[in-house]
Amino acid sequence: MGEKMNTKDIIKIEGRYTSGVYPKREVAIVKGHGAYIYDSDGKKYIDCVSGIGSVNVGHCNEYVIKAINEQSQKIITSIEIFYNDARAIFLEKLNSVTPESLNRFFLCNSGAEANEAAIKFARVATGRTEIISAKKGFHGRTMGALSATHKPKYRKPFMPLLEGFKFVNYNDIEDLRNNVSENTAAIILEIVQGEGGIILGDWEYFKQVRKLCDEKGIILVIDEVQTGFGRTGKFFACEHAGIVPDIITMAKSIAGGIAMGAVAINDKIQIPRMMHGTTFGGNPIACAAGSAVIDFIKDKNLVEQSRKNGEYLLAELRKIDSPRIKEIRGIGLMIAVDLKERPTPYLKALMERGIMANIAGLTGIRLLPPLVISKEDIDEVVRVLGEVLA
Ligand code: PLP
Repeated sequence: MGEKMNTKDIIKIEGRYTSGVYPKREVAIVKGHGAYIYDSDGKKYIDCVSGIGSVNVGHCNEYVIKAINEQSQKIITSIEIFYNDARAIFLEKLNSVTPESLNRFFLCNSGAEANEAAIKFARVATGRTEIISAKKGFHGRTMGALSATHKPKYRKPFMPLLEGFKFVNYNDIEDLRNNVSENTAAIILEIVQGEGGIILGDWEYFKQVRKLCDEKGIILVIDEVQTGFGRTGKFFACEHAGIVPDIITMAKSIAGGIAMGAVAINDKIQIPRMMHGTTFGGNPIACAAGSAVIDFIKDKNLVEQSRKNGEYLLAELRKIDSPRIKEIRGIGLMIAVDLKERPTPYLKALMERGIMANIAGLTGIRLLPPLVISKEDIDEVVRVLGEVLA
């Protein structure tokens, strides 16, 4: 414990034992604070990856640290067959940020698990089996969530996936209308397609989707795993569209970086006892961290900050004059700088200059900084991007 390893050894040892499923960058990240991460040589980066949007409140957030420290002295895990104070407090806080009708929650450990649960809940609630989701959508990599995920590269090696899944064009209500049937249990959509390349939903489309679901008795599931907790300048992105789904799935930033997922459900969803469950879901450590996250977001007015800083970042990015840029799009602090070519060399150049960013779709540079990022650091991100793309 407490051993200090040098970069070469970290990379060598992890490289030897890791499963190999991740394309890794030649850097070991060992520390984080706010919008910054630090590598094992002490180099500082502005983190526009944020664990793919899982530290909206910033790395090693002070509220989260305190909550975890205090909770770890009491009890770390306690299965949901018993009641628990940290869980009760968290559920009440979660209820305060979700739409009024979504007032019960299934707690789990990741985004994929949240979507697995949503698929099962929708099938049980309707007695139907068909699930419709959108092309370019992403809902996770477990077999159920993957069945609702469109990308052939992720699906093909694992065929056959679950039966009864269909894909429609995103933002195309006619295509959706043509594909629903008497047997459609659920429609699962993201309000902004994250992995697909930061593709913004059309609010009018979502209103029509809501209407269609009401007419046909279909459960509307909105996947807020990446968009939730202030990322888009609203607490949940469905608020932009002015719709209330039947189920919201969430994860990533919900517990400040601790593994957690949740499924918010309305009265249409009634799950018989023992029909679903998970050992670590709703564990007190994650719940304590989750409460700290909601407190921090409220105390610091972080959702509004995300909206304002997102507008500022978008406006500044649009001033970059580069022939390599095809389009800049986004909402809140969920932004893609879409290029006319593959972004990998530019991601490397950004990293060398102290900015960590990720890919969006095939050709985008995805910027998902912690929502606590300062204006000065936004300026620095824009300056370096301008330099790299010149
Ligand atoms: N849904 C969306 C919209 C996501 O962006 C992701 C992950 O990127 C997932 C689901 C899967 O979440 P997890 O990686 O926690 O399983």
